[in-house]
Amino acid sequence: VATTTSDIRTASRFEVLRGVYAAGSTTRQALAAAGPLSFATVSNVVAELLDAGVLVETAYEASAGGRPRARLGVNAGRGRLAGVAVSETHVRVEVFDLALQQVSSDQRPLRLAEVGAEELVAAITAGVTTAIAGSPAERSEAPGAGRDGAHESGVLGAGVSLPGYVWSRSGAVPLFDGMGAAGGGALGGRLARELGLPMVTDNPLKAAALAELWFGAGLGARTLVTVTLGTGAGAGVALRGALLRGATDSAGEWGHTTLVLDGEHCRCGARGCVEAYVGAPAILRRWGRPAADELTGMAELAAAVRAADPVAQSIVQEIGRYLGAGLANLVNIFNPDIVVLGGWVMDQLGEWLLPAARATAAARALARPFAATTIQRSLISAHRTCLGMAAFALENFLRDAGVPSSRSTPIPVRH
Ligand SMILES: [Zn+2]
Repeated sequence: VATTTSDIRTASRFEVLRGVYAAGSTTRQALAAAGPLSFATVSNVVAELLDAGVLVETAYEASAGGRPRARLGVNAGRGRLAGVAVSETHVRVEVFDLALQQVSSDQRPLRLAEVGAEELVAAITAGVTTAIAGSPAERSEAPGAGRDGAHESGVLGAGVSLPGYVWSRSGAVPLFDGMGAAGGGALGGRLARELGLPMVTDNPLKAAALAELWFGAGLGARTLVTVTLGTGAGAGVALRGALLRGATDSAGEWGHTTLVLDGEHCRCGARGCVEAYVGAPAILRRWGRPAADELTGMAELAAAVRAADPVAQSIVQEIGRYLGAGLANLVNIFNPDIVVLGGWVMDQLGEWLLPAARATAAARALARPFAATTIQRSLISAHRTCLGMAAFALENFLRDAGVPSSRSTPIPVRH
């Protein structure tokens, strides 16, 4: 919630930038007409973003009787951003230009529950360094970019997501025992020192929601729910363009809501959680082939379903029904416009899980909210969590540096 003048100014910048990303190329007039900000506020924020080299004026179009209107675009070459998704099984790094198009990537295995802080920091640092070295560092050639020649196209920052942790004023806090000790404390500060980059850290469920909000199916949604299926399961919620974080930052931990009373044991310590039925270890256990490497195990299950193995087929149907019951709960609680599913388990099994889940959700959710909800797979081509963390890094860059803050006093966002 934007409460201070500085927060309101930052929120206005994100609102304008989100509008430019959504449109690709647009005008001040169109941004004001499409969003909640006044034309005066849009003009002030655009001026700041032009000064910072984040936006460029790409062309001019005639307007009836007035001055020509400038078309605005994102200055892709202004700099790069690294988005890092640490999962229970690997570290994935994607580097993006400022248009948030992926330009390079790195992926390396890591058993999160078994490593210490040193090893985690080393793996992330190696991944980010390798990915950045593999990305083209071109200076912008867009007209108007860096008019004074002062804008270097360096790496503007990095965002790192860690599953099972939430963030408080004192740093990262594990949601429950068993997440390993590596991610606690001052991980962000240590990484910032190792990498020499501005750094933000957050939970992957929040990153997925931000990615859909800015670049995915959530662009026009008033109430967006994202579901991520991997080793764990969780949801992200965005209301009117803002992430729902809750009192202690753990809103969206849908994976640890009860699906079956006194059901399967969950790693959080409770029983019958959604995650204990639709998480990757549960799926592979049900198949009777718990794998040392979950990604390989899931690929084998997908291949078996594709080869019409009846056991594999019945397992994905059954998992789909559990997933659907969990989705029905989300639909009834949040009444979302859209529920977008992603994560590496969805990538592997989504084509079978989703129809089964949708059918179960239709039978169990209330008819009116279900009819108003679109349930679909993510359309984002980059790794969704990496993209979201790069967007968080961009927010951080806009908040802390590069944009002069004395030019204007934007009015509050109207809702
Ligand atoms: Zn649980």
